[in-house]
Amino acid sequence: MLQLRGLTVRYGDHLALSVLDLDVSDGEVLAVMGPSGCGKTTLLRVIAGLEDPESGSVVWNDTPLDGTPTYRRGFGLMFQDYALFPHLDVARNVAFGLRMADIDPDEVAARVDDALEKVGLAGYGARGIANLSGGEQQRVALARTLAPSPGLVMLDEPIGSLDRTLRDRLTTEMRELFTDLDLTVVYVTHDQGEAFAVADRVAVMRRGEIERVGTPEEVWSDPRTEFVARFIGLDAITEAAVVGGTIDLGWGAFAFSATDGSYQIALPPQAFGLDPTSAIRATVRTASYRGGSYDIRAQLGGDNIQVSSTVAMPPGADIGLTVDPSRFIVLAG
Ligand code: ADP
Ligand code: MG
Repeated sequence: MLQLRGLTVRYGDHLALSVLDLDVSDGEVLAVMGPSGCGKTTLLRVIAGLEDPESGSVVWNDTPLDGTPTYRRGFGLMFQDYALFPHLDVARNVAFGLRMADIDPDEVAARVDDALEKVGLAGYGARGIANLSGGEQQRVALARTLAPSPGLVMLDEPIGSLDRTLRDRLTTEMRELFTDLDLTVVYVTHDQGEAFAVADRVAVMRRGEIERVGTPEEVWSDPRTEFVARFIGLDAITEAAVVGGTIDLGWGAFAFSATDGSYQIALPPQAFGLDPTSAIRATVRTASYRGGSYDIRAQLGGDNIQVSSTVAMPPGADIGLTVDPSRFIVLAG
């Protein structure tokens, strides 16, 4: 089990990292997400021992790792750019971490074959790095990280630069691999779809701090802050007043159980349905096909909302909406 306690990192007077309290259980996949520059790589570097925190501790299986050098932590870190050696073949790249660990050559060869098999590259050992596709290079880097059987696997934007279709496939494959091997993983990404697809729990970072942590379901249904809501794609956010158990959104008023006051409300796609006879009318702005259904973005009063549709709708079309106020999400502001 990994425990992070009161970690801070400062560059000059810039506080790059401030993590009060974060645990990763054995066999758990934690995705750490957040915009570029929020401190994700710094977090991994501190866990790996590549960066000394100004204060706080990285605790592994109840032992604080303060002062323990990187190579003695038994963690695997896969860098964003893969950092493969272009002049070495696939097998030698994968063997790199094992040679450092001083393991005998037969054992190295067996572990390399095993790691390549796990990532779907059995038989690729003699290939040169330069002739591999981006997806194959990603798998080699993953095999190299897994070969020494690390206690903790850390991946820094492991599929960041690959195209969307390949990303989706690799995300699913990695999820299966993590589960099959029962790995403990910290998976860094700036992509919320990838984080939700791969992780048991997600942590959203902002300016060095963890703003929200929970299962994908918990974070999606209750992002708590506007920053987290927008980051995970809930960008229909509006201000509304509740008076006497009724919330007034301008384009409609609904029974809503909250004390009187002004609230910041996220309107998720699940709060809306299509009904041509409804008196609540909206105007379609865009319709994007997402395999099986359309994500409709529509202007509803002053709000730009999303609703799912099984049929395409042209921009400018007038649509009727049903509204389920129990799906509205109250943000902390
Ligand atoms: P992320 O991986 O989320 O994009 P980083 O952890 O790389 O973010 O960086 C966090 C912040 O710390 C950024 O503002 C970055 O510019 C700064 N930073 C990172 N490494 C250094 C360094 N070695 N020296 C000074 N500033 C740094
Ligand atoms: Mg980074």
